[in-house]
Amino acid sequence: MQTLEQIASCVAGYDPNALPVAQAQDFIARLVPRVQAVESLALRSALGRVLARDIVSAIDVPAHDNSAMDGFALRAADLATTGDTLIGVAGTAYAGAQFSGAVAPGQAVRIMTGAVMPEGLDTVVPQEFTTRLDDGRIRIPAGIVRPGDNRRLRGEDLARGEPALKAGRILTPADLGLMASLGQAELPVFRRLRVAFFSTGDELRSIGQPLDAGCVYDSNRYTIWGMLSRLGVELIDLGVVPDQPEALKAAFSQAAASADAVITSGGVSVGEADYTKQIMRELGEVLFWTIAMRPGRPMAIGRIGGQFGRDGRIGDPGKEAILFGLPGNPVAVMVTFYAFVRDALLAMSGATPQPLPLLRALSEAPLRKKPGRTEYQRGIVRQTDDGRWSVRITGAQGSGILRSMSEANGMVVLHHGQGNVAAGDLVDVIPFQGLV
Ligand code: AMP
Ligand code: MG
Repeated sequence: MQTLEQIASCVAGYDPNALPVAQAQDFIARLVPRVQAVESLALRSALGRVLARDIVSAIDVPAHDNSAMDGFALRAADLATTGDTLIGVAGTAYAGAQFSGAVAPGQAVRIMTGAVMPEGLDTVVPQEFTTRLDDGRIRIPAGIVRPGDNRRLRGEDLARGEPALKAGRILTPADLGLMASLGQAELPVFRRLRVAFFSTGDELRSIGQPLDAGCVYDSNRYTIWGMLSRLGVELIDLGVVPDQPEALKAAFSQAAASADAVITSGGVSVGEADYTKQIMRELGEVLFWTIAMRPGRPMAIGRIGGQFGRDGRIGDPGKEAILFGLPGNPVAVMVTFYAFVRDALLAMSGATPQPLPLLRALSEAPLRKKPGRTEYQRGIVRQTDDGRWSVRITGAQGSGILRSMSEANGMVVLHHGQGNVAAGDLVDVIPFQGLV
């Protein structure tokens, strides 16, 4: 395992005191380990979980050439080259049963959608184009089909021996269907990631407690809970931890012993006088960064050890968890989570990284932006009458103003090198819709 210094030496342009977002992401991607344990789950239980192995198809899907339409199967060579085709019908092929009759040259077979193509027939004429004559034959107008039309080929969905799904996929409803079409009853998935989280700060009160002078309700634990729930990880909520060394040690030890990752909020600012940073240093290998971003500049990152707590029982000295020490400001918590923690937790869960989808939208107003840092502004994206996307910023953007986040339906990302934006310029937006 590499030390944090060794990882830092691999990140080009690493500067802990003015770290560009991309460098911080690079560092974290190198730091985080992936869960190893694999469990086998029934197909439906695997929805949203991360596939642990490639799944190779043991059969051709479909297993036979079959009809894509209700109609008449025939040999394309039997179609008249000019004018209508008149052709006799040898019988009917139903879905789920092999057609056993003989088809003489110049004959068609009535066929249902999904029925196996009778031997030698290669084309299906949809029912609605045909007319049945009194003598039992059918009439097919010229130019209705080309050879091979409306025939599904054996193995066209999945050929035997081909990888149907690759390890690292987060399983979707379509994937479950695809696996069912292979007859796969169970899927190997990585075990769920366990993530512990708590809030630090003596000014924090939990819901239900009286709000003493100078205090605020702990909101971060709710936003973090929400974002983690969407990621599908196992949650360990350790509550609000007071700014006391023993309480912090106990919380970190319990987190390290029971979780793969620990997320804290608060107490990591540069001038912070409380014990959070000190205990992080004592119990782990931790770096304190100032990131070139707004909001969300301070952040702690590293590994925290499962040392013995005060009662001598909690914790496992050998076990460590990845620490994400997020800033305390409620908006900064969400922004740093989406910028760094989301991808890291997905990678730890075994998922192949998928960058956040970006929308390009016209800025409705000019935006002030200094080059040399990444800014995340909360915005409302809408579709204009001509079908394009435009975005306006939601009021005051202070990093403590959670309402700016709640009102927004996306985050405008003003990149590191970018300067001021003029009204009508295109900007990148991360839509919240569908974001985990
Ligand atoms: P800090 O990073 O600890 O200096 O906190 C920055 C600001 O965020 C302070 O105004 C804190 O009161 C506020 N804050 C910290 N933690 C929380 C929390 N869990 N819920 C709401 N506000 C918080
Ligand atoms: Mg504080």
